Amino acid sequence: MAKVQAPVSKNELLEVTIEDLTHEGAGVAKIEGYALFIPKALPGERAKIKVVKVNKGYGFAKLIEVLEKSEDRVDETPCPIFDQCGGCQLQHLSYAGQLKQKQKQVRNVLERIGHIHNITVHSTLGMGDPWRYRNKAQVPFAQREGGLVAGFYQERSHEIIDMNSCLIQHEENDKVVQVVKDVAKKIGVRAYDEKKHSGILRHVVARYGVNTGQLMVVLVTRSRDLENKQKIVEEICKKLPNVTAIVQNVNTKRTNVIFGEETKVLWGEEYIYDTIGNVKFAISARSFYQVNPEQTKVLYDKALEYAELTGSETVIDAYCGIGTISLFLAQKAKQVYGVEIVPEAISDAKRNAQLNKMENVDFAVGEAEKVIPWWYAQGIRADVIVVDPPRKGCDEALLDTIIKMKPERVVYVSCNPATLARDLRILEDGGFKTVEVQPVDMFPHTNHVEVVAKLQLL
Ligand code: SAH
Repeated sequence: MAKVQAPVSKNELLEVTIEDLTHEGAGVAKIEGYALFIPKALPGERAKIKVVKVNKGYGFAKLIEVLEKSEDRVDETPCPIFDQCGGCQLQHLSYAGQLKQKQKQVRNVLERIGHIHNITVHSTLGMGDPWRYRNKAQVPFAQREGGLVAGFYQERSHEIIDMNSCLIQHEENDKVVQVVKDVAKKIGVRAYDEKKHSGILRHVVARYGVNTGQLMVVLVTRSRDLENKQKIVEEICKKLPNVTAIVQNVNTKRTNVIFGEETKVLWGEEYIYDTIGNVKFAISARSFYQVNPEQTKVLYDKALEYAELTGSETVIDAYCGIGTISLFLAQKAKQVYGVEIVPEAISDAKRNAQLNKMENVDFAVGEAEKVIPWWYAQGIRADVIVVDPPRKGCDEALLDTIIKMKPERVVYVSCNPATLARDLRILEDGGFKTVEVQPVDMFPHTNHVEVVAKLQLL
């Protein structure tokens, strides 16, 4: 076989036209068919670039200068650490441009991976004000010579950048991070050192119930002992008047997983509450709860609309978490069955059903791909099945059961268009038709895309 020779070499300076944008948010230029990925470059731009890495089929380059800029380019990105922090990838692209890009990405992936053509992919539903939307912050600590710092890991590294403010976080969460940092400095609590596995404070997790104003502070520590506990609690309460829960989570392991197994309340309650539409939820330190509450309402309303419930339907909500979608659906269905793998989430889901006095929901702990086939064997039939799997998508055994059960409609909520496309192909081959697809922007300025798809039994 002829050796493939890259037409560029490392450190070469080039002038190129950017043709496309990857799902990761990098610009793409082609040199004699060879793809170069250029972070922060935008489609349509002429740019001066420097090649930094040459692989066999593709390479990477650095943006040196934009020679002709895209009309979608934002010249002054609002966040001062946008270039170092890996949290956002698209601040340099106008918000309208981001929404268009996400719609295009969904359409492309459905065609390329799912071979699903000629369906309506609606314009991405975005936010009026796409900043300060996150209700949860998880921030690591590190000890430096000048004292303790808290911030984000620099992109592709383990170096923590000290940070005072994150523009996609709710202000309340920013405040929590600053307060905990100040309190720890004042009292002399040392940050965790991941190399030596020493020190105490690993992460602070802040959760804010945007619609109730309640605030939870979680201190993740390396050991159970937390000196000056009382003092820490007093200081936090003094500086954050709307805090309703201060919780310690103990993570003794050498790992970059944030939470450990043990959680205890230091002060106040074990939960904070939040509402989405008319439904109220109790949220504990470790439960999964969508991070953009404003857009969650948009997403769930769309799922509910696609479910077309009249009040007589039996509905299954697979991958139900703390029962958020299940309870949303239960407002309009005869009976809802929710299934989820994390036992604590199911306890939360049951509590949430009681909290809302909803009696037409049943929750089960287990893998959706085992529990739903078992339900099927017991004679349970659903008119509508909603799935909201993690990034890897649905297990094939679950898709097989959906195909056998023949619900009138399937509503697929997805945080990964690629696995959505793969699964839609399987469902289409099994007798369903994808009717329409709605991208919802849950994560402005990042490259993440959320989608709801509606499928009809043929
Ligand atoms: N629908 C919920 C949660 C979606 S996140 C909401 O909108 O809040 C996906 C959920 O799937 C997580 O709670 C995760 O714990 C759960 N999960 C992951 N694998 C699973 C499996 N095989 N079976 C059931 N649930 C699973």
